[in-house]
Amino acid sequence: MVRFDGAVRGARSRAVLGACRGGGGPAPPPAAAAAALGGGAAGPGRAGMPSGFLLLVLAALLCAVLSPGPRGAAAAAAWTAWLNVSWENGWEAGEGGLYGLDSPLQPAEGLLVLPDSPDALSACSEFTNFSGAPPASGSLGWLALIQRGGGCSFAHKISLAADRGAAAAVIYNYPNAGNEVLPMSHHGAEKIVAIMISYQKGEKIRKLIDNGTKVTMVIEVGKKQSFSMNIFTILFISVSFFVVAAATVGCYVSYSARRLIIARAQSREQRQLRARAKKAIEQMQLRTLKEGDKETGPDGDSCVVCFEQYKPNDVMRVLTCNHVFHKTCIDPWLLEHGTCPLCKCDILKVLGVEVSVEAVVVVAAASHIVTLVL
Ligand SMILES: [Zn+2]
Ligand SMILES: [Zn+2]
Repeated sequence: MVRFDGAVRGARSRAVLGACRGGGGPAPPPAAAAAALGGGAAGPGRAGMPSGFLLLVLAALLCAVLSPGPRGAAAAAAWTAWLNVSWENGWEAGEGGLYGLDSPLQPAEGLLVLPDSPDALSACSEFTNFSGAPPASGSLGWLALIQRGGGCSFAHKISLAADRGAAAAVIYNYPNAGNEVLPMSHHGAEKIVAIMISYQKGEKIRKLIDNGTKVTMVIEVGKKQSFSMNIFTILFISVSFFVVAAATVGCYVSYSARRLIIARAQSREQRQLRARAKKAIEQMQLRTLKEGDKETGPDGDSCVVCFEQYKPNDVMRVLTCNHVFHKTCIDPWLLEHGTCPLCKCDILKVLGVEVSVEAVVVVAAASHIVTLVL
């Protein structure tokens, strides 16, 4: 049974892109097209997949919009292969293969033949030979059974099988792919029938052949698998992505704007508050110390802000609580703290300068927004 997994869907998306290119622009180079579907173990199509996803979605969206529907859908279709595999004392049949996207849609049959060396199962070497193949003059043709991967593209494997005289190339999937198959892209290798079968099926046939059993396969064209559904899926994903992205950007812009507005309001409020406090502080009484004042005597006090002894001619600020300090020390202190450093009396409150409720709300809201955004 043919099953389309995530890898197949990815391949389909790329197949859609290929179809788009084929529709109007120049055709892609054969090697690039084949490698893009993972013919090699590390094809260029796999590199940068996460960062390329967005571009892929955008390109698929453009393809879906710009390509005429019927032609795009036809080019992006794959056909299943009905297989009848038989050997000396057994057989099995079923829709177990998938025609390559560039394969002729024709039946094929013949003896399945492996590459000569166990190391050459992927048929990547130019020297790969199929010495088990029947002579060309015989009535029975032969099909090359080749393993996927090995560092070369599907097109390379299929072309090599065609050059050696095979009627078809039967490529079986990676070992970790289980029972899955995908539609191969093998631009430039369209001469013979090319199908993919699952690893499990390929491995079973390989073991039979290795044991000296002759295995034949009849390939017939099965059902069409349309990719049109995938185009709508990609379209849906693209639209969803743009909606989510637009909503995210909108939220961010809104938060940033609010944050800026609140920060400005907070700054303006603080400036006004500071100006009012400065004006109120300047209204408090000043006193200049003279010789003989008790503050300048041997038992005199020292300023608790700067810790210096008071001296004659020092200019002092007398607070509402009657404590005195250097004017140059206490004025900045009050602007910063608002209270007397000795008795903790709230001088600004006594002077009628209070932080308004509005300012408190603004400051709280600003800090909340900052927390949310950061
Ligand atoms: Zn001082
Ligand atoms: Zn005081």
